[in-house]
Amino acid sequence: MGEFFDREWVDEVRSRNDIVDVIGEYLKLKPSGRNFMALCPFHNEKTPSFSVSPDKQIYHCFGCGAGGNVIGFIMAMERVDFTEAVKLLAKRAGIPIPENYMRGAVADAREALYRLNTETARYFHRCLRSDEGKAAREYLMRRGVEAKTIVKFGLGFAPAKWDGLKQHLLSLGYDQKHMLDSGLIVASKAGDQSYDRFRNRVMFPIFDVRKRIIGFGGRVLDDSLPKYLNSPDTALFHKGQNLYALDIVAKARDLECIIVVEGYMDAVMLHQYGVDNAVASLGTALTEEQAKLMKRYAQKIIICYDGDIAGKKAATRGLDILLNQGLDVYVLTLPDGVDPDEFVRKHGKDAFLRSVRSAKPWLDYSMDVLASRYDISTTNGKTSFAKEAVKLLGGINDPIQKDLYLKGIERYSGVSLEILYGYMNKSKTARISKEGQGVAHKISAVQKAEQELLNIMANQPEMAAIIMQRITADDFENELHKKIFDIMSERYKKGEKPSPADVFSYFLGEKAEKSVLSIFTNEPRYDNINKFAAQCINTIKRNKIAMKRQFLCKKADDLASAGDREALNILLEQINALDKELLDLKELP
Ligand SMILES: [Zn+2]
Repeated sequence: MGEFFDREWVDEVRSRNDIVDVIGEYLKLKPSGRNFMALCPFHNEKTPSFSVSPDKQIYHCFGCGAGGNVIGFIMAMERVDFTEAVKLLAKRAGIPIPENYMRGAVADAREALYRLNTETARYFHRCLRSDEGKAAREYLMRRGVEAKTIVKFGLGFAPAKWDGLKQHLLSLGYDQKHMLDSGLIVASKAGDQSYDRFRNRVMFPIFDVRKRIIGFGGRVLDDSLPKYLNSPDTALFHKGQNLYALDIVAKARDLECIIVVEGYMDAVMLHQYGVDNAVASLGTALTEEQAKLMKRYAQKIIICYDGDIAGKKAATRGLDILLNQGLDVYVLTLPDGVDPDEFVRKHGKDAFLRSVRSAKPWLDYSMDVLASRYDISTTNGKTSFAKEAVKLLGGINDPIQKDLYLKGIERYSGVSLEILYGYMNKSKTARISKEGQGVAHKISAVQKAEQELLNIMANQPEMAAIIMQRITADDFENELHKKIFDIMSERYKKGEKPSPADVFSYFLGEKAEKSVLSIFTNEPRYDNINKFAAQCINTIKRNKIAMKRQFLCKKADDLASAGDREALNILLEQINALDKELLDLKELP
């Protein structure tokens, strides 16, 4: 995240951009009690559920769950990363950006790799235009790729040499280490030599949404294998975290949907024919990161893989991942098993868009695929179909989606909903016992008390001192809560007043972001804040002691069976002391 900026400087930028002012520049805010309300820019709605709190300096949408501080808002609204958002806000507040902010060693190494990738793309592109690239040019022409498309996507050619790129990079002064780090040059097994990874292939540079080249894909000119070769994972490129052509798709505002295809050529050709919302999944099954990435730009996703069996399998594999991100998923099957590239060349843009409109909702699609495998005119076939269909549910977490799906299975198979739920619970139990875990993730009373206490600390500075006298981070059960408590008490000890937005900025872009948000957007209900805080502290401390007691009792069991009387007596003393502590806590008002 913000590793290149000094944290205090980021805090300064944040505090000089009042969240109400900033959001007010984008949305029409209406006062409502202590807060402001607006129509949420991140989901469709008719009545405002998007709330901005001047006290907490955070925003939160009760409709779609979006929320964060002013930096997070700019990230979501302007579709930029953390660094870019902070820069925008610094500019807005007239704060100069520190000159040395990207001079760190890590940043330097990354910058060097971006430069090396750019040089490489230029080299490949030149090779495509040179005599060496004749066969590749002919190949692209045969496949109908126009000159303007070659330029738009920066296509190139890696010559059929072992060290063409290597010699070129050496001549530009790049050292061996950077070349190996980029994955473009590979060390021989003995380690004493190195050579070009991509040879005799048409090259597709892969851009991130900020238009930087992060890696390459290469396709053979004939039928040799592997057909496609990608950059390995590097500091810049991570398989499954990017989508080819998303940099182009991302520029369009108000996208109706994103079409996901399998291959580079599919995406390139769709764009050439004016279908400008196609991305390629880079040969892998869709990942959670890719689903999240797409959700930043569109709510509706249309999967359009090859019509063959492998394509069908790949399409069903990505479904649960997309559904779990709350995306509206459709599946498009092109007639006669052709791929999108072939289809659009043969039938043109309008025919393709017509079939896009006929894409099936994911539910209908997966029912069709399954139904084709079983003879559902027989009772046996129906049962097998229903059981198999229920199994597909394994990856779907959302209870509403689940119910919808089960009703679909009922409609298709005639097997009653009751029996289907029975199948589901059976396969769920089997799964849980296999993984050896069945702990429900219900928020316990202790966790709730921890959250309430942290919320009070952040919103009532006068209470913080009292709380800090009575409890330490160590008393907290939850690791995230410990961390938040530490952050706040450190700031308070320095004489500062950390707002929820302050704390929030420590977790921006991290997995815990949503949990932190839910702690601070919770409106506590109490008559007497002192009494309420004392109750929370009490609950937390009692839990801490109970855990300790449980641990000691287990140890006591072991000692008893080992016959170690002396050690056991000491332990029992300790347990007694804990019991007394518990009793004392009970007597609190
Ligand atoms: Zn919303």
